[in-house]
Amino acid sequence: MNSGNFIKNFIGGKYVNPISGEWLDNYEPATGQVYSQIAKSDKRDIEAAVAAGENALPIWRSTALEDRFRIMNAIAEGIERRLDTLAEAESVDNGKPVSLARKVDIPRAAANFRFFATAIMHYASESHHMPGVAINYTLRQPIGVVGCISPWNLPLYLFTWKIAPAIAAGNVVVAKPSEITPMTAYLLGEICNEAGLPPGVLNIVHGTGPDCGQAIVEHKNIKAISFTGGTATGARIASIAAPVFKKLSLELGGKNPNIVFEDADLQQAISTGVLSSFSNQGQICLCGSRILVHRSVYDQYVEQFVEKVSRLRIDDPMSPNAQIGAVVSAEHKAKILNHLNIARQEGAKIAYGGQEYQMTGRCKDGYFLQPTVITGLPNNCRTNQEEIFGPVVSIQAFDHEEEAIALANDSPYGLAASVWTENLNRAHRVAEQIQTGIVWVNCWLLRDLRTPFGGMKNSGVGREGGWEALRFFTEAKNVCIKHN
Ligand code: NAD
Repeated sequence: MNSGNFIKNFIGGKYVNPISGEWLDNYEPATGQVYSQIAKSDKRDIEAAVAAGENALPIWRSTALEDRFRIMNAIAEGIERRLDTLAEAESVDNGKPVSLARKVDIPRAAANFRFFATAIMHYASESHHMPGVAINYTLRQPIGVVGCISPWNLPLYLFTWKIAPAIAAGNVVVAKPSEITPMTAYLLGEICNEAGLPPGVLNIVHGTGPDCGQAIVEHKNIKAISFTGGTATGARIASIAAPVFKKLSLELGGKNPNIVFEDADLQQAISTGVLSSFSNQGQICLCGSRILVHRSVYDQYVEQFVEKVSRLRIDDPMSPNAQIGAVVSAEHKAKILNHLNIARQEGAKIAYGGQEYQMTGRCKDGYFLQPTVITGLPNNCRTNQEEIFGPVVSIQAFDHEEEAIALANDSPYGLAASVWTENLNRAHRVAEQIQTGIVWVNCWLLRDLRTPFGGMKNSGVGREGGWEALRFFTEAKNVCIKHN
């Protein structure tokens, strides 16, 4: 595979330098050292990517579904064949334990291509009969050139979650991964070429949000934007795209409640709660960052939770034993530490952690933090309202079901929630009232790709996953034929 010292753009099936000739430093979070250079692209590179996409569009939109299916499956196989290389690349780029990348991120990236390769083969559209008068049928056609912009926390997984439905539906794509974690997206270009994806169907452009991402959003020939990232960035993108009527899917931040009732299987709730708080150093949009526990089991929960957290192994992400790696950047580490200061000012009790974690050897300058457990704060403080997006969880007590629901919903966000109870009626009742796009009962992060995915409130608009994604990436047209 490409050595990756220079992370170039992938346009029209070729790796090319940025037109500016400028590069950005790419840091390894575990060491704090620069390890590669990223293309610093701007609107000229986006122009070239759109032109390559427009060249490919007539061929790709009329490519037989069986051929799209075959090529997308070959991309999935290419990802699977390079499982180790991609997992290591993602761990180096992002700071996450390599075992997590190998077990979750990279297999799920392959699964995205497989799922949408199959989905497009089964995608049907409707017809509506007006008896004795006419028949209507719905054509769902590709939009054309679409833009996909993704964040750094699950780099290849979220990048492919957008690209796979877009190309399955016959679109051509201009895609930008996060400039903080570009490596696996860079390697994807070569995999697509090997799989026989026609040049120009997928164009990958690297660079910063303001220079490169915004040029995608502003480009007049890009008619739809699928974005995953922060809520403030989503609002900016919407302000540019909405007045020119671009189709928009926005998957944004979260402050997810994890509700533990008195009748829960406490051991399960605690062990999954530790995972849902600290997987990927708490940098998964779906992480449960507010744990709400019934007062009758609160002390027991906190004690056992803290005990389990204290046994999490912070290590070099490349070590197979690492459970907690580095957070993604020096800036992000500073932001999380600032949130911990705010929590202290708000009167938090730090039940565990709260400090930087000093590594030795190769990782001595890396961005490591202790997993942190906070108690004693009310729901309406900044710590419990703002997205921290790091290894920090806050635990609160509640007295009854209505209060738990009210606390869960007292948030500007509405992405995901977990509910722990052995009472089936309560599970349904609470799930119905929680204002989030997904509610897990007695589990976390279980994903069936056929289901709609996305947030409510400030966590986003539009839904991805399954038919929702194929619908997003197609234009519906009604054809009405009157009987003679
Ligand atoms: P971010 O918003 O800073 O960046 C996301 C992407 O947008 C990057 O590729 C960035 O370069 C680009 N970008 C930045 N400014 C832009 C602009 N003006 N125009 C166009 N593109 C621009 O987010 P991040 O820090 O990379 O990711 C963390 C955030 O993502 C968290 O808030 C997290 O909750 C959220 N997230 C949400 C989901 C979800 O499915 N809802 C999934 C993962 C992450």
